[in-house]
Amino acid sequence: MTLKCYTDLKAAVWDRGTCSGCGACVAVCPADAIRIEGGADAPVNIGYCKAESDQVPCGACFDVCPRVDPARPPGREACIARLSAKAAFEVPGRQSGGAVTAIVEHALSAGLVDAVVTVTEDRWTRRPASVLITESEALLRSAGSRYNWWVPLLSALKTAVVDRKYRRIAVIGVPCVVQAIARMRASENDLLRPYGDAVRLVIGLFCTESFDYERLVEGRLKREHGIEPWQIRRLDVKGRLEVQLEDGNALELPLRELEDCIRPGCATCTDLTAVDADLSAGAIGAASGCTTLLVRTPTGQGFVDAALRAGRLERCGEVDLSAIERLAERKASRA
Ligand SMILES: Cc1cc2nc3c(=O)[nH]c(=O)nc-3n(C[C@H](O)[C@H](O)[C@H](O)COP(=O)(O)OP(=O)(O)OC[C@H]3O[C@@H](n4cnc5c(N)ncnc54)[C@H](O)[C@@H]3O)c2cc1C
Ligand code: SF4
Ligand code: SF4
Repeated sequence: MTLKCYTDLKAAVWDRGTCSGCGACVAVCPADAIRIEGGADAPVNIGYCKAESDQVPCGACFDVCPRVDPARPPGREACIARLSAKAAFEVPGRQSGGAVTAIVEHALSAGLVDAVVTVTEDRWTRRPASVLITESEALLRSAGSRYNWWVPLLSALKTAVVDRKYRRIAVIGVPCVVQAIARMRASENDLLRPYGDAVRLVIGLFCTESFDYERLVEGRLKREHGIEPWQIRRLDVKGRLEVQLEDGNALELPLRELEDCIRPGCATCTDLTAVDADLSAGAIGAASGCTTLLVRTPTGQGFVDAALRAGRLERCGEVDLSAIERLAERKASRA
């Protein structure tokens, strides 16, 4: 194990404004000494560190962070299969075709996984929260994308692995979260291995950027446009932010007007399609009402096949790979 500690992570990531907010360092700190508070741009240490305070080898926070390495090169849209698919049953809040919900719901109900770590939200305040889900009904309620997701998603992984002792976990996350899980799975650090071993399936959501809750929902939408969080029916990003309201009205905001609401850490992110996932899912490349699925690993293929065989997932049309590659290239060159 290394003797790196949070001060190395602070110098390499927190102080440079490149933290993505994935929450992995928060989750794996064995002393629970790293926190992300409110709308902060990076975590803080609360004053204790095993390595620095007691000279006990640790380095967990440094080893798990996806931002300590230089940006990975773009152009890795490779996959072993790709398909356009949708849920074969009603998923009321689905963002695209509901394929992610269908695959994970089947995995839960068939006993292929015990628990799902993902992001849900309070339907009244639209405030996102990291959550551990073990029931199909809760998963169905959680469908849809949280673009204002900035919460330490992986903190729920600590609850799953350390407190609840689950060993067959599915994680749904944006690419920075997926990169952190990949580091857990590949790490030789004894403190990270239990996390890597407990994750059975990683589903990555395509991602161009994410918004800070306070700045977008409380600031821009509520204070500037007079929209209360509970009036929002759905958010979508399609070259601009689309805000659909419960009363049928809608508001469209160009992304260039929302730059101050985007998490600073997103500016250095080059990964659109979560290349380290078992299975990646997005809207682009599929017809409206369907989800693009890029199958990266035999594990990902197994979960897709299981849902198709059970009649919970169905194919719908072809995938336009060139549209995905264009957007991936644009994101990488922006970074
Ligand atoms: C921040 C963000 C940015 C995105 N940007 C793009 C983009 O630029 N282009 C594109 O094609 N697609 C993008 N997507 C993906 C897209 O919005 C859909 O999530 C994807 O197409 C899957 O749709 P679905 O209907 O199959 O998923 P659903 O069946 O609706 O299920 C979605 C699942 O994801 C979980 N979830 C929602 N938000 C988050 C989150 N923030 N982190 C972790 N888990 C979450 C939910 O709990 C649910 O289980 C983005 C998603 C997010 C969260
Ligand atoms: S990118 Fe993730 S692991 Fe790295 S400092 Fe930020 S929250 Fe922690
Ligand atoms: S753009 Fe990158 S850093 Fe930002 S939320 Fe998406 S995957 Fe994470």
